[in-house]
Amino acid sequence: MISATVEDYIKAIYALQRESPTGDAAVTRVAVAMGVTSGTVTAMTHKLRDAGLVKAERYGGMRLTPKGSRLALDVIRRHRLVEVFLVDILKFDWSEVHDEAERLEHALSAKLIERLDAFLGHPTIDPHGAPIPDAKGRLSEVAAIPVHALPKGATATVARVDGRDPSFLGLAARHGLKPGATCSILEQTPEAESVTVAVPGHQPLALSHRAAMRVLAHPATDPPRSTRRIRSPRADDA
Ligand SMILES: [Zn+2]
Repeated sequence: MISATVEDYIKAIYALQRESPTGDAAVTRVAVAMGVTSGTVTAMTHKLRDAGLVKAERYGGMRLTPKGSRLALDVIRRHRLVEVFLVDILKFDWSEVHDEAERLEHALSAKLIERLDAFLGHPTIDPHGAPIPDAKGRLSEVAAIPVHALPKGATATVARVDGRDPSFLGLAARHGLKPGATCSILEQTPEAESVTVAVPGHQPLALSHRAAMRVLAHPATDPPRSTRRIRSPRADDA
């Protein structure tokens, strides 16, 4: 039985690898992500290596093995399906579900999660627009760019809003920035590193570039790549 702590490490390493230019997760960055010391991470790395989940890389880095990547995607699948269930069925607000899913993702068996997936109609994105890995651990990323990378006057479809910060999600929702909404870039102020985005029927919102990193959109000129894949009804049975 893999512990919740191990799953949290694997998920953190997966996220850091994706941001890292070398594809490795540095011990120091894993320590920051997990809120522990580098010594604690090093001790845990031995445990993860013995379990065949990570391999140590040069210069204090580590990388998930195929088994480790598969576990990360399984945890992400559980997390995002729980978020869909909480929003669509239990009618939680989208700003409330991340922390709930952080706990529940460790508690659900493979059998329960496959029943939940079927019950929800095999959703392919979570309430924040993040793609849900399928039962075989395949993830189709949402091809979208941060809103500050769009030119003034551009129109775009909101694809994804970072789901981790409840207060940011509350702000985004008040200004209509939800996946599927059409937004336009009213103002670009590079000197102030800010962008002003408007959704029809809502007050415009000025975002710093840092905050704008959390709102990804498809420019209207590019035909938006569908985030809902057509699949045969039994495609997820494995
Ligand atoms: Zn979440």
